[in-house]
Parts: sequence; structure tokens; C-alpha cells
Amino acid sequence: MTQGCSRLKLISALFFFPVRSYLEKLGIRYDLSAVTNAYYREKFDEVSSAQKAVILPHCLIGDKCRAHFSKEDGVICIKCKNCRCGEIRALSEEQGWQFYITPSTGFTKRLVQRKKIKAAVGAACDFEIEKGIRSTTVNTRGVYLNRGKVIPLYIPAARYNCLNNDIDWELLKKIIRGEKTDGNA
Ligand code: SF4
Repeated sequence: MTQGCSRLKLISALFFFPVRSYLEKLGIRYDLSAVTNAYYREKFDEVSSAQKAVILPHCLIGDKCRAHFSKEDGVICIKCKNCRCGEIRALSEEQGWQFYITPSTGFTKRLVQRKKIKAAVGAACDFEIEKGIRSTTVNTRGVYLNRGKVIPLYIPAARYNCLNNDIDWELLKKIIRGEKTDGNA
């Protein structure tokens, strides 16, 4: 696919996402995560490891989580194996990436700025993505958070739920390892 074509695909996918339920009634469905990741992946890979981050939402942590919360860094995962976040933290560190678990979108925006993050892979449900599209500038250059711009990749959360949520962990691991993925990224 040409660059112009994938740019148009991304713009259309973002524009129509808020009305996706109407489109679904017409039989039109698409995977925003796959479109987004395919478009940004090359730019994402160009960013240095130290400026890349995995930023996960708190809905993915285990209900027996004993991690402390820091105002600076969010949930400080101690890799206790009660959920998959610890494994992802270890893999991120192996690759020289930053790793965070965030309690909110506002926290994420401040974090990205404080930590000088230039590319981030995250996870979010459709509800949060729609909120983000409505409240944040997203274009073909990236996502504009406060004063900085970030190249985004994202993995859809399985449901709109603040507890015991789930994502495609294998897809996330492939992205962190820099592996190609089929249909997504
Ligand atoms: S692996 Fe990390 S985030 Fe998951 S339950 Fe343990 S300390 Fe909490």
C-alpha cells in the first residue's frame, strides 16, 4: 500500500470511529488498532529505545496487585506474576524501553512530557479511544499531548471495564521485540 493510501486510510478510520456503530449497522467494520499500527509502525521503530515506552492502563493489573503508586511514575509493578504486566515490564526493560502503568489519561499526558517519551505503545478500550480522539489532536504525524508529540501504537482492550481487563499480550510482546505482526502493526 502506498504512503498516500495508508495516510488516507488512517484519516478516514479516525474520522469515522465515533460513528462506528452506525457503520456497523450498514455492515461496515474496521479495526482501528490495525490501521493505526500499520500506519505508524515504521516511524515508531525509528525512535530510540530510551525514548520508547509501554504505557498500560491500570485496568490490566491483577486484583491481588501489591504494587505501590507513585505520583511520578504511576503504579510501580514489582513483577509478582499475579498478572501479565510484570512480564511486559521485564521485556520492556530488556529492550531498553521505559515501562509504566497509568491510572488515567491526564496522568499519561503529563508522564509523556516528564519522561520525554517520543513513541509509546498502549492499550485502551473503544470508549477511551473515542474520548481521546474527541479531546486530543491526532493526525498523521502522531498524537499531540500537551506540548509534545508522540508516535502511537495501541492494542485494543477486550472490554470497557476498569477491572481484570485483557489484551492480546502476544501482540504486545511482538511489538516490543520489534517483530513484524500480521494484520496489526
Ligand atoms: S505483576 Fe505487577 S501489576 Fe501485575 S499484579 Fe504483580 S505487581 Fe501488580
